Amino acid sequence: MLVASPQPTIKVHYQKICFNMSPIIPDWNNIDTVLLDMDGTLLDLHFDSFFWLHHLPKRYSEQHGVDVDEARLDIRQRMASIQGTLDWYCTDFWSGQLNVDIVELKREVLHLVGERPQVLDFLKALGNQGKQRILITNAHRDSVDIKFSVTTIEPHLDLVISSHDYGYPKENQLFWQQLQENMPFDPARTLFIDDSEPVLRSAEKYGIAHLLCIDQPDSQQQARLSSGFQSLADFQQILNFKDSL
Ligand SMILES: [Mg+2]
Repeated sequence: MLVASPQPTIKVHYQKICFNMSPIIPDWNNIDTVLLDMDGTLLDLHFDSFFWLHHLPKRYSEQHGVDVDEARLDIRQRMASIQGTLDWYCTDFWSGQLNVDIVELKREVLHLVGERPQVLDFLKALGNQGKQRILITNAHRDSVDIKFSVTTIEPHLDLVISSHDYGYPKENQLFWQQLQENMPFDPARTLFIDDSEPVLRSAEKYGIAHLLCIDQPDSQQQARLSSGFQSLADFQQILNFKDSL
């Protein structure tokens, strides 16, 4: 289990909110596999938020000659109708739906892609301690390649899994069954970190014992005040205790 430390609360100013930065000490002696989400967990979700809410509607409106607000509403409605499905995360699906080249449009705003604070230190510390670092993402392989091309996380991962490899998103129990067959792991000795509560609930249902959420997936948005899971403001909360890791 993840145990909140009795240490005094450390207040750290980060963006607009003063977080509760009480260190979180995972039970590292009983964890040998760490499953990590990509967007909103290792990487700043700002790129994705900006792309889907602003850049794509703007470029779609330019390419198809429609009003940008109408384009934004149309895209939002289409997204809402398939939320939680694999298509929602699929670049091929959206390129076909909107008749645009999603990958090419993403490349136009690549400068917004970035790691979240202390991510590289965290991944290196996990590697130094012999923990298996597995990226499990609902992002399409095209999107993973784009993110890897402008960040330095890839060399610090032992394996990269896209749910598109299996045909089921992380929200679906079949994803976890496929993952188990593909890469045998002990759910009781596994830590999973993700910014999506529905995904964490799915992992919990499958039996992943150690679960952590992310307070502020998008650096340009305010942190959520609470989630149903123990949650990290940033990875410094874990790195404060290098002896434990
Ligand atoms: Mg995510």
